[in-house]
Amino acid sequence: MARKAKGIGLLSGGLDSILAVKVLQDQQIDLLGLTFVTPFFGPSEGMAAGRMAEIEMRPVDISAVHLEMLKNPRYGYGSRLNPCIDCHGLMLREAAKILQAEGADFLFTGEVLSQRPMSQRRDSLRSVEKLSGLLGRILRPLSAKLLPPTIVEEEGLIDRNQLLAIQGRSRRPQRELAQKYGLKGYPQPGGGCILTNESFANRLRKLLEIDPGASVHEVEMIKWGRAFFLRNKTLCMVGRNESENLKLESLAGARDIVLKAREHRGPTCVILPPAGPIDLEEAASIAVSYGDAPEGKEVRMEWREGAAAGDVRAVSRPKEFFRGLLIA
Ligand code: SF4
Repeated sequence: MARKAKGIGLLSGGLDSILAVKVLQDQQIDLLGLTFVTPFFGPSEGMAAGRMAEIEMRPVDISAVHLEMLKNPRYGYGSRLNPCIDCHGLMLREAAKILQAEGADFLFTGEVLSQRPMSQRRDSLRSVEKLSGLLGRILRPLSAKLLPPTIVEEEGLIDRNQLLAIQGRSRRPQRELAQKYGLKGYPQPGGGCILTNESFANRLRKLLEIDPGASVHEVEMIKWGRAFFLRNKTLCMVGRNESENLKLESLAGARDIVLKAREHRGPTCVILPPAGPIDLEEAASIAVSYGDAPEGKEVRMEWREGAAAGDVRAVSRPKEFFRGLLIA
């Protein structure tokens, strides 16, 4: 009898990946689920899917390598700034490292042939497989019978007859399968990745245009508040409400300058390095102008950078004065 196979699954959080686990669990295979973390999507949906599928889960942070890929994806972008083919390829490559470390036999995903226009065409699935360096070792249990047999099927470690032949955009087969496995309250498809969000994609595109070397920290910061590029291209974030003020302050690193209003109500502002005295004055001017101080009034703000701290004074101006510095 063939030995028990071990598979590692990529769970993004949708029903399809839960069903892929369920289909494989029918074959008594050892399974481990991975879910990835970047500034653009987090692990919570994948972890929840893992709980529903009753599979051991592991979150994997690929922020830095994902951002580098995003700057120059080999297969381009989808409708926004979503490099889906390269993103899948990267996840599979990262998963491949874990596969080797764990001594597992194959990777699997919940992908369904022809379900999505860009990433789930037959040639895209093949491109992703090539990018991952795992040709023949990626199983898509929901569409497996429509795809060439994987190595684990050929070796008899997985019974191809128990795999499925779902394809296309209809969700009906998945709904029926969910019923068969008694899955209730499962997540609806799509939504979790902010690279498909138009306003965030525009903002990120602008950041990368101005600063092609932008780091994960900068990308994380532009998710909150208004983003300004000061005249010498220093990035400065200004909260739009109390929760953004708190978020920006909590995300500020040791080399970031945090500016806070003291004499009037006003936004918290974080200046990212490198920043000099001119940047501090310009950022203070923006922050004061977006606060409650009357136009033309000079206001004191407090700044802190790591252990250092001090005051800076700025005059409130009309917001239009800074419009050219605001990024999307
Ligand atoms: S939508 Fe986002 S997370 Fe999903 S494949 Fe595309 S880039 Fe990656």
